[in-house]
Amino acid sequence: MQDLSTQLIHHPYQAPAGFASVNVPVHRASTVIFSSVAALRQREWKHKNGYTYGLHGTPTTFTLEERIASLEGGRYCTLVPSGLAAVALANMAFLQAGDELLIPDNAYGPNKTLAEHEMQAWGISHRYYDPMDPADLRQKISAKTRLVWLEAPGSITLEFPDLPALIAVIKSYSSVHPKGIVSVLDNTWGAGLAFNAFDLGVDVSVHALTKYPSGGADVLMGSVVTQNEALHQQVHFCNMRVGYGVAGNDAEAVLRGLASMTLRYRAQDVSTRALAVWMQGQAAIAEVRHPALPGSPGHAAWLRDCTAAACLFSVIFKPEISQAQIDLFCDSLKFFKLGYSWAGPMSLCVPYDIQSMRTQAWPYPGGLVRFSVGLESVADLQADLEQALAKLVA
Ligand SMILES: *Cc1c(COP(=O)(O)O)cnc(C)c1O
Repeated sequence: MQDLSTQLIHHPYQAPAGFASVNVPVHRASTVIFSSVAALRQREWKHKNGYTYGLHGTPTTFTLEERIASLEGGRYCTLVPSGLAAVALANMAFLQAGDELLIPDNAYGPNKTLAEHEMQAWGISHRYYDPMDPADLRQKISAKTRLVWLEAPGSITLEFPDLPALIAVIKSYSSVHPKGIVSVLDNTWGAGLAFNAFDLGVDVSVHALTKYPSGGADVLMGSVVTQNEALHQQVHFCNMRVGYGVAGNDAEAVLRGLASMTLRYRAQDVSTRALAVWMQGQAAIAEVRHPALPGSPGHAAWLRDCTAAACLFSVIFKPEISQAQIDLFCDSLKFFKLGYSWAGPMSLCVPYDIQSMRTQAWPYPGGLVRFSVGLESVADLQADLEQALAKLVA
């Protein structure tokens, strides 16, 4: 008779197979058990046709990878523990010492910070380009360039670039370049729903699943998706070497969010446009940034390339509204909470000092506030904005 301690670990009971539920089971493992020494020796850890070790995937993470690849119109997906980890993984997979990467000046801030610190320290230089001017990108590409970041629209200021024009510049240079250049889009805003990144010619799509796919403001995750097997293998093998694993419970939480993602994206799009248009008519506001608004930078490119828009808009206040008044406005909001990230159920806002984040001159004297519109009623959100704006006049 085995000791109870042994029995509790090596228990003979096996639950019947074939349990069918709506949601994908949460598989959690470091160790994966092999049936024999031969099976252990034969197992090719790089292949997705079986399981080797928890870090290299479980049925839960494989399922999420396939669904994210489908969402974005790609073929291959690698999951990582955050959107920023996905940015870093793309850099690590495609760059070596002596290479240069190009980043749009309005890119997600931590992408720029990573370039200025670790990338620089590892001998990888960077330059910032104006994403609204393909000629500026053409002028900054050199024989050292190996990776060009794209983002549509840019973070916070929401300029929508002419992606096909930027990609044409990269491809024309890449075709004569000895090593080629990889174009990587931060696709968090489009999320696979506003436009198909691969139809526009992007090589690799990075997505902060923290935002729409989760939708809950409670999980951090990122993905790197491609249609190209060789590029995927570079990303995937790099990820296996650096060990950016994703937890089963987190993958299950994103799978739950994914089921309602298309409905949330459309609903938040409608609410966001309504509030952005309403804000345009307010006395304190000089300009509203939202790619679907005529006059917002890059509106024509958005109109041509997109079928929807995400839940973000930014307002630039008139110069006579001081930063202290803008801070008071933000503090006065009741439903728009102060906090980073976006695409969750709760509306959020953050005031930004844009000039401190850009190398290009930011020509607006007034301050900027970025809003993320959640799932609350538009009427309640508009009333909230209205009462906070009234504080500026008072
Ligand atoms: C939030 C965000 C990221 C980073 O995602 P995290 O999961 O928060 O690390 C990257 N890019 C964009 C455009 C984002 O909005």
